[in-house]
Amino acid sequence: MRCRYCQCTDSKVVDSRPTEDGTAIRRRRECTNCGRRFTTYEKIEEMPIIVVKRDGTREPFDSSKILRGVRKSCEKRPVSAAAMDELVEEVVREINNTLEQEVTTIKIGELVMKKLKDLDEVAYVRFASVYRDFKDSNTFFEELKKLLGEQNAQ
Ligand SMILES: [Zn+2]
Repeated sequence: MRCRYCQCTDSKVVDSRPTEDGTAIRRRRECTNCGRRFTTYEKIEEMPIIVVKRDGTREPFDSSKILRGVRKSCEKRPVSAAAMDELVEEVVREINNTLEQEVTTIKIGELVMKKLKDLDEVAYVRFASVYRDFKDSNTFFEELKKLLGEQNAQ
């Protein structure tokens, strides 16, 4: 397990416990080089979930891809790394809970969008614009207008 701060590969485990859904072990580690602590998740059993992409091709499910997308959407927004991790964890849990072997990228996108909307509206619109693959900026602004309309209605 590589330290995410100094890239050192040697760390000691200071705490381990299973995640809520029981599919992984959450480990708190301390880097032996820089002394900083970080958390890792190790899967207990590999859930063979396959992602079906828009063009029909398939690839193994990879939660780090979701996290990358979420991070990108949350750039320069007041969203903590912990909140992003948590969002991705929730999405993964929901996908696992469906007990389906295949999940579409559209479904994943919808789950992420639903949660991002509560977390940060700007991040939500950014994510939606990439994920829904809006054909033109009009569609994007329609979505934005709907979102702002909802805000005004509250
Ligand atoms: Zn380190």
